[in-house]
Amino acid sequence: MEYFKHPSNSLSTSFMFELIQEHGGNGYLVYFGLIEIITKAVEIGSKKKITFDLRYLKRNFHLSIRKIISILTFCSDKVPFKLTENDTHIEIDCSVIEEFVCVGDLRVTVEYKRWRNLVLERDQFTCTVCGSKKNIVCHHIKKASTHPYLIYSVDNGLILCQKCHVNTHKKGK
Ligand SMILES: [Zn+2]
Repeated sequence: MEYFKHPSNSLSTSFMFELIQEHGGNGYLVYFGLIEIITKAVEIGSKKKITFDLRYLKRNFHLSIRKIISILTFCSDKVPFKLTENDTHIEIDCSVIEEFVCVGDLRVTVEYKRWRNLVLERDQFTCTVCGSKKNIVCHHIKKASTHPYLIYSVDNGLILCQKCHVNTHKKGK
């Protein structure tokens, strides 16, 4: 399986804000869905152009072809495409999506470590509740399960000791 880079802050970019404002969740679906499909379809580093049957995208996204084209047109600065063959297919120059593609899931670990280190440094390796330096953990203020887009946000991290961490989760319930 190949992985593509999904920026942890995509929801706070003006592009994504405007895309969702204009097309709702379907905008997000088509943009990242298409990048996912492209990633699966092309070899990393290949410069080739790839043609997709719009009916294939229609089946995958459960959206009308007209809707898909209108969303793609909105995203065309990011993922340039051309309509071909009587508007039944789109052609994408895959060299433009290389920035999204990376191999393996190391990224997750690296990004997590980076986030954790930034929070540790900011809070000086000290529990922000009781001041203890023992058994410290990096806590997500807003839970990753409900706020996945804040997973790597330093503002959403807090250093706590084990004991205060347990108390925090007890209070949260
Ligand atoms: Zn503590």
